[in-house]
Amino acid sequence: MSRIDLTTADPEPLEFSERVAAPDGTGGDDVVSLSAATIVGRVERTARGFFVNGWVEAAVTLRCVRCLEEFALHLHESITVELLPVTLAPREEETQLGRADLDARFYLEPVLDLAELAAEQIELSLPMKPVCSPSCRGLCPRCGANLNVDVCDCPAEVDPRWEGLVRWRPTN
Ligand SMILES: [Zn+2]
Ligand SMILES: [Zn+2]
Repeated sequence: MSRIDLTTADPEPLEFSERVAAPDGTGGDDVVSLSAATIVGRVERTARGFFVNGWVEAAVTLRCVRCLEEFALHLHESITVELLPVTLAPREEETQLGRADLDARFYLEPVLDLAELAAEQIELSLPMKPVCSPSCRGLCPRCGANLNVDVCDCPAEVDPRWEGLVRWRPTN
């Protein structure tokens, strides 16, 4: 069951440990494939709502933005989320205040969807610009050779802003 009835976490905390599938499209275009995620944690009743902490783990295959090759990444992200009834959601004019409340999720029904929470945390842990290695040399902008495995004979790129200077020769 990937949906938890929060009311069962009262008065005793509720522990969970599930395998859930994040929805297709999680993480956007750089994600080639995403394994089922493991999500483990506990839900506790608080004075105003519920508090969830734990972690999520998944294996993801990403495409490197420099060389366009696929590479595997193991994700492990901790979770700390406050869940509050929607009646406590700040009105728009109040969102400048109480930064802590901005990290809270608001629910209409006291239900926690673990697949949704896992997908959200996975999104947060994915790199903005995935690279297969910090030293990835990428593709040659002229011939497209993968410079991690190939050497090409293309001349080094000249920044177009300097081209005039490169051509300029003193005339006297
Ligand atoms: Zn790369
Ligand atoms: Zn080249």
